[in-house]
Amino acid sequence: MPQQIVIGIDLGVNTLLAATDGAQAVLVSGRAAKATVQYRHKRLASCSQAQSTQTKGSRRWKRLQRRKARMLAKTHRRLRDLAHKATRTVVAAFPGAMCYVGKPFNDAAQHLRPKQAQQVSSACNVRLIAQLAYKTCGAIAVDEHYTSQTCPVCGERNKTRRIYRCRSCGITAPRDVIGSVNILAVGRQHALVPGRSVPHAVQWVHPVKYPGPKPGSSPGHSGNSLGISQEAPTRSLR
Ligand SMILES: [Zn+2]
Repeated sequence: MPQQIVIGIDLGVNTLLAATDGAQAVLVSGRAAKATVQYRHKRLASCSQAQSTQTKGSRRWKRLQRRKARMLAKTHRRLRDLAHKATRTVVAAFPGAMCYVGKPFNDAAQHLRPKQAQQVSSACNVRLIAQLAYKTCGAIAVDEHYTSQTCPVCGERNKTRRIYRCRSCGITAPRDVIGSVNILAVGRQHALVPGRSVPHAVQWVHPVKYPGPKPGSSPGHSGNSLGISQEAPTRSLR
């Protein structure tokens, strides 16, 4: 029986998922999910605005109501699809892994306009954790306080932007990588102990269909080896 792989996963907005086993890191972009959420709010607002000038229950009002429902269903499908693709990317990168997931408390709200950040992350986090729980060998939520601020090498706290730079030891890494490294430590050792290293192999990916170790091998219908339920192809991703 090979040793159980353990990974740390940080959930975010611009980076939907950041996963690491300590040696390599995979960052899944959250731009598409963010854009979908923003689009939904924009369209919802304009439909409601148009409806406000109509008599409730009238023919035109009903038409707008149908438009709203269609749009909500469509964005819901799109977000679900993106979540499936993102979690599957992580599963493909770390097969058979057990994962620690940072329990989100909306750290991103410090950087985005609060309302927006709330909407984006609340739309995806619960779903992502649920999907990780059944696609991996178990997902355990851990406290993610200070995990995106604490330097894994020296233990110093730094508040940074997208790229993390430690003021005392000088290490530089994407902040989401730092977050996932620290979540892994919290899960394993129940503390943010210094003296760890930052993974050097960092891979940025977009949530796409059928990612895997062999991207060159026949795209399109390369079998679903992980037994993940397949959705009808939604042709809606731009
Ligand atoms: Zn440091």
